[in-house]
Order: sequence, then C-alpha cells, then structure tokens
Amino acid sequence: MKTSEEYRESLRRMRPNIHKFGELIEDVTVHPSTRRTVEGHAQIFDAALKEEYSNLLTTTSHLTGKRVVRYLSIIRNAEDMINNCRMKRLMFNLTGTCTGGRCAGFNGINAMWSATYDMDQELGTDYHLRLTNWFIGAQEADITLAGALTDPKGDRSRPASQQDDPDVNLRVVERRDDGIVVRGAKVMICGIAAANEIFILPGTGYQEPEKDYAVSFAIPRDIENLTIIEARHPSDRREEEEGFDIPVDHGGITQAYLLFEDVFIPNERVFMCGEYNYSGKAVMNFIAPYRAAIGGCVAGQGDLMIGASMLIARANGLHEKVFKDKINQMAINNETTFGMGVAASALGKLHPSGVWVPDMLLSNVNKVHVATLPYETKRLAQEIAGGIAETGCLPSYMDIKDPKYGSLLKKYLKANTDGETRARIARLIEWLTIGAGVPGCMHGGGSPDGARLMINLNSNLQAYVDMARRVGGIKEDIPAPEKKR
Ligand SMILES: Cc1cc2nc3c(=O)[nH]c(=O)nc-3n(C[C@H](O)[C@H](O)[C@H](O)COP(=O)(O)OP(=O)(O)OC[C@H]3O[C@@H](n4cnc5c(N)ncnc54)[C@H](O)[C@@H]3O)c2cc1C
Repeated sequence: MKTSEEYRESLRRMRPNIHKFGELIEDVTVHPSTRRTVEGHAQIFDAALKEEYSNLLTTTSHLTGKRVVRYLSIIRNAEDMINNCRMKRLMFNLTGTCTGGRCAGFNGINAMWSATYDMDQELGTDYHLRLTNWFIGAQEADITLAGALTDPKGDRSRPASQQDDPDVNLRVVERRDDGIVVRGAKVMICGIAAANEIFILPGTGYQEPEKDYAVSFAIPRDIENLTIIEARHPSDRREEEEGFDIPVDHGGITQAYLLFEDVFIPNERVFMCGEYNYSGKAVMNFIAPYRAAIGGCVAGQGDLMIGASMLIARANGLHEKVFKDKINQMAINNETTFGMGVAASALGKLHPSGVWVPDMLLSNVNKVHVATLPYETKRLAQEIAGGIAETGCLPSYMDIKDPKYGSLLKKYLKANTDGETRARIARLIEWLTIGAGVPGCMHGGGSPDGARLMINLNSNLQAYVDMARRVGGIKEDIPAPEKKR
C-alpha cells in the first residue's frame, strides 16, 4: 500500500487533462482548485497506517491474501459492509467532507463483480475474468478509483435512443478486435482530480434499442481523448482571503464533467459492451451498498456539526445544555442514517459471485432519510451558532488580521473566547452547513424520488392489506378499484 506522499507522486506523474476557469491544471496536488480534494484523499493513506484506524480502512484481499485498502476490496459479508458504513463515517470525522474519489469506484467494482459473474455464467463471456485481472493490478498499484455512472441524460422523459443528440448518454461508437471506442460524457463525478483511474458503469437500465449505451470499463484518469472540467465550488478562490477555512486545507468535495471524444478502451478493461439486460442489475447492485453506506457519511459530518455547535455555544458564553433538545435531535438524525445503513448491511444477501448485496428496501429507505435529516441537522447547527455562521455575517480573515482595524474587529467578535477563535468556529459551521455542504445528501447516489420508487417496488403492500383483513376479521375481498379515466 502507498504512503500519502507516494500517492501524491502518482498524481503528479499523470498527464494534465483537467481544466477549470479556462486553465489547464498542471499539477493537481498544488493547484488551489484541486489540492484540497487531493489532501482529503491523502488522509486515507495516512490514517490506514495508524493502528487505531487500520482495521477499518484496510482488509485482506480475497484474491491475493495481501493487505489492501478497503476501498479496493470485494464486500463479502455483512461485517465487511458494516465496516464500509463505519469507514465512511470515520472519513467524514477526519476530513469534514467527502472522499468520493474512492467510494463510488469501490461501489462500481462491487456492482460489476456480480453483473460480470452473471454475464459469464449465462452468456459465456469472459468479463468476470477481465475484471478480476484488472482488479488484482489495481490492488497491487493501490490506485485511487473514482466511479462514474451519471450521464448528462438530455431530456429526462426520453430514453437514450430517442434523444435528439445520441451523445448525451455515454455510448460505444466503434467495436474493434482489440477494444471499443466510446463517445459522450459522464457528469458530476466526485473526486476526479484525486483519482488515478475511473470506473465507468451504465447510468440506468437499458433496453435493446439502447444496447450501445450498456457499457462498463475502467480507464486511467489521464487517458487520451478524455477532457475533464472541474465544476465550480462555493469554496473556490477563497483561500487567498480566508485563513479560517481550516477544513478546506484538509479536504474538499469536487465534482467534474468527463468529456469522452472517441476514447479507445482496450478489451482487457471492458466489462460490459452491449449486454443491456444486465445494465439494470448493475445499477441496482451499485445503489444497494451506496445508499446503505452514505448514511455513515452524513452521520460522520453530523458528528462534527454537533461538536462545532457545542463549541460555538460555549464561545458565545452559553452552556450547551441550553440547546440540549437541538443537540439531541442532531444525534438522533446521525444515528438514524448510520443505523439504517448498518441494518441494510446486516440484512443483505450473498450473490453467487461472492459479493454481499445489502437489503434493497432498507438501503433505499436510508437514501430518503439521507436526503432529509442532514438538512435539519445543518439548520440546527446554524440556529445554535447565531448569525455569525451564516454567509456574509463574518468579516474575512484578511480584515481580521488588518493592522489598522483588525484588533477592533477581534475586540467586537470576542465573547467567551477571543474573537479569532470564535470566528474560526463560526467559519467551521459555515463550511459544514453550506460549504462542504450537503455532501451529496440530496442527489449523490441518485435522487430521493428514485429511491422512493425502489421502496414501492420492494414493499409487498398487498401482504399488508391481507394482514389487516385477517387481524380486522374482514371477510370481504376488496380489490383496488379500476383506474378511472
Ligand atoms: C455531491 C454529488 C456527488 C456526486 N458524485 C457522483 C459520482 O461520484 N459519480 C456519479 O456517477 N454521479 C455522481 N453524482 C451525480 C448523481 O448520481 C446524480 O446527481 C443523481 O443520480 C441525480 O441525477 P441528476 O442530477 O441528473 O438529476 P435528475 O435525474 O435530472 O433529477 C432531477 C429531479 O427530476 C426527477 N426525475 C428525473 N427523471 C425523471 C422522470 N423520467 N420522471 C419523473 N421524475 C424524474 C428526479 O427524481 C429528481 O427529483 C453526484 C451528485 C452530487 C450532488
């Protein structure tokens, strides 16, 4: 396994192909737009070496018997999956933000582990063998692997084959003896600047007319003909003026647009090409672990919000007991999403490929909670903090340090701690509630309405009707009325 410095060095060796604000980023490890996300991911390497965290962040490869980072492992039982939830909580505790340049890739491998197995068993392909070989190499090199499912999609009411522009979903445009050529895009992909490779999966389940869109593969992040645009972020370009943005130095979520202009992928890195019947299964097996474990992410950030709220209360001169009910509610929210994820993990099933798939119903219920409860936790943190933690109510670090009036600002920011400390806590709360922000709570891992649809599909509602009839002694059959036109 790499050290954090070896990891940074691996990124420095890559071909620059990431742009932002019209500029080509030459070195992602030092550029202000990307270095924070790199540093967040670098902390995984440092923490994995520490005794207190190594059991959570590393595991034994079932393929080689060697110690590997958990992000490059197959989830083989409930304990592995619960450890995934705990690992995500830990990473938020350590960084205050998302290290999504590893977790979506981790889920992608696990989703395709079962899909490739099924294809090989039922169609006689060799995708599972290819994936296994590639994966052993990935473990050996200890790569950081981002995951990309989300296509631009175009008009949401139409399938990929009926879009005006066929490229708005990533597709195969050429099949060669030695590989395939793909064109299109994947958008809003987490932690790309911090990644060595990207794992691509279909964005949805496809039908026969969309078979060219049913494609999965792994690529080096700097592959020829791939252009990457980093999305703008609220914390951009603040560091020159905001010395208070401490978490920003340690981590930072970024999303990127991946533009594929006829990218060639050699066969040994292709894990699905045209098998549209298996695309839906691959997506399902992605969302089950993702939507279970994301409860750990938001709980991890919620833990920090509780700590920061208590600090600001004290800094304001109030005992945190004044806010006991609010802090309790924050804890309830955190443990609800974490606990739902653990429950979904515990009640999963083993797929014949050896991968453990969390319970679909509970994972999706968790996704809906994840899209709801953290917003309340953030609101409570802001309510406890006072106006100082809301955007625009705190002078910049530069002004607080100004030789002419900085001491006056500090004098008037002082309450129960010195002014600079209080301002620092306020900036942390601003960062946690509206900066690092909403760590993919709403749409990361898919929209909550998509999860609601899955809840509906996985709930046996008629069984509840029968149950109620039996308990209530209702003899008459009451079928659902015909839909009125
Ligand atoms: C912080 C963050 C990190 C992310 N990281 C990654 C990543 O690492 N990798 C990755 O692949 N993706 C990533 N994503 C993208 C994420 O998976 C998508 O945002 C999500 O799947 C929703 O897709 P969308 O944004 O296109 O929204 P849309 O699909 O446009 O949804 C918008 C709304 O319309 C509704 N809707 C959509 N289609 C229909 C329809 N046909 N009928 C009725 N209602 C509809 C949805 O339910 C939703 O309410 C990330 C997103 C965020 C916010």
